[in-house]
Formats: sequence, C-alpha cells, structure tokens
Amino acid sequence: MKLKKWCKYFIALIIIIILVVIGYFCFFYHKETKDKTTFVEKEKVNKTIEVLKADNLYDSKYSHDYKQIEYVENENFSKYVNDFLKKGYAATTVNQIFKNLSAEELDYVFKNEKMNLEDYLEYRNFDVDKYSRYEKYAKDNKDLKLQDVITRVNLKLDYNYYENATEISNPSDINVLVNKYNYLPSNYVPANLTKIKSSNTNATMIKEAADAFEKLVAEAKKAGFTLLATTAYRGYNFQKILYDKYVKEDGIAKADTYSARPGFSEHQTGLTVDVRNPAIKDARLSDENYAWIKEHCSEFGFIIRYPHNTTDVTGYIEESWHLRYLGIETAKKVMDSNLTYDEYYDLYIAH
Ligand SMILES: [Zn+2]
Repeated sequence: MKLKKWCKYFIALIIIIILVVIGYFCFFYHKETKDKTTFVEKEKVNKTIEVLKADNLYDSKYSHDYKQIEYVENENFSKYVNDFLKKGYAATTVNQIFKNLSAEELDYVFKNEKMNLEDYLEYRNFDVDKYSRYEKYAKDNKDLKLQDVITRVNLKLDYNYYENATEISNPSDINVLVNKYNYLPSNYVPANLTKIKSSNTNATMIKEAADAFEKLVAEAKKAGFTLLATTAYRGYNFQKILYDKYVKEDGIAKADTYSARPGFSEHQTGLTVDVRNPAIKDARLSDENYAWIKEHCSEFGFIIRYPHNTTDVTGYIEESWHLRYLGIETAKKVMDSNLTYDEYYDLYIAH
C-alpha cells in the first residue's frame, strides 16, 4: 500500500518534468524562428540601403522609407525606389509593387504619373498598363466592384463588340476563349472531327467532346429525357454565308444581335454543341431538362456557356441549349465558380 502511494508521486513527478522540458523547447524553438524572420527582413532592408549607396542614389530625405523597403533583384532597383517614393507611393506600396509586378510593368510605373495602385495591387488579374481604362470604366459603372471592373476591362468590355478584336493564336487549345473580341483564324478547322451519334443533323465535334457528349446523352436518358445535337461544329465559310445572309436581310446592327460574325462563333472550335429534346414543342428544352443539364453537365466536361442574366459579360442572350466542352476538371471548376467562362478564363487561365 505504502509503496503504491510512493509510486504515484514518482509518476506525477516524472510527468511534470516531461512537461517542463517540452515547454522549454517549444519556447526556444518559437523564439529562434521569430529571430530568424526578423533577421531576414533586416538583411533585405540593409541590402536596400547598401545597394542605393553603391549606386550613388542614396537620398537622406528618404532614409526613413528605405528602412521599410525590402531589396529585390532588379538592375534598376535604386532608380525605381527613388522614383516611386518621389511620386508619393508609400514604402509598403513600393514593396507590393516590386512583389506583384513584372519587369515590364515596373517600367510602366516608372514611366507614368502616380496611380492609385494601393487599390489595385491585390487583384490577381490586374494589368498595370490598363490602369487608365480601369479608372474610366469604374467611373462609368459606379455600381461595379473593382474586381469586376478589372475583369471586364481585361475582357475588352469597355470597347464596342468586335472593336480591337484579337486573332486567337492557339485555336486548338481546349481552353480557347472565343467571344466578340477574340476570333479564330478563317482557315482553322479542328482535327479529329467525329460524327455525333445522337444527332439528327450529322453534327460533328472533336472526338473527345463527341464521346463525352454521348455519355451525357446516356445519363439524360436514365433521367427520363432524350437529348439530340442539332448543331455542333460550324466551319468559317458556313458561318460567313449565314451571317452575310442575315446582314442582307436585316442590316449589320440587327444581324449582330442574333448571329456571330464568321470567326467569332464558338461553334468553329468543334468543342461546342447545341442540344434539344425532340419531345418538346416550341422550345429546345423543358425547364426541368435545363435544370438537370445545369446540375450534371460538368460531370461530363461541359458547361453552360451563356447562362441566365450574363449578357453584359458574354454579349449573348441566355442560351440554355449551347454547351461548351472543357474537360471534366475545368468544367467543374467553372460551374462551381458561378462565373461566366469569359470571367473564369481571365481570372484563372489568362492570369
Ligand atoms: Zn450554339
């Protein structure tokens, strides 16, 4: 009995010793890492001053600011630091400028008047050379958040449709963005165009997309409805004949509201399909069909390319029947993001 009591005290003592030892090591480990970080920052700041002095550009007027600026490898570092401080950028902003901008963008900041970079630098898709366009667009669209201003200007939505349009250099890329500002070369024909089995019009798509489409059709069948591809790949010349006919009938302004110009149609990628349920009259799909497609299309690699209420971004009216193939991984990300593909592309693919 006595021995047991003695034993209990002994075990308690051992536990206390172990806890004290652990606490001791934790404290010193923490202190050491903290010291290390301050040391690194201090070293970078010291390097800033050192480099400025070596370049004969140390200006005592800014000595307080220099102490907060971290050195970065750049041949114009000293010149830039003095210029940015002279323009009135805070030392913290100078650090951010060096951290977030490319070499060309740094040069742009150097060559231009002071900008409100503090507001913009946190956005991943901010391009400094579009600064004045952002500012103007924000002024004209006061209800938009700055993130949306940046994305929309990057998408060229501050220009009229088809104005300053760019020819796409990588047309066979599965992520290719085709819209009213990005067009496919007139001679671009996708490889591997394959007939879609579930089509009453001999529609074709690139093989990977056509195979994925059949899987979507089979799953829709299980859910109780038939899906058919009405149009998928459309060649440049076909789109040209179509568009020219509309222009002749209705004039350019009106034709542009309902028909894509040749090269500007996503159907030329071979990654796009228009669907319909043949059992539905006067519409392509029922509301239930559309709800099902919206929920499940990404499981097969498709997205709704022109969703409800996004005309101001996509330039197209809602097209519940127009599906775009992107592969399962990207399609899921796009559908989960609740963004249009145009916005998703600018935010996560282009930047
Ligand atoms: Zn379509």
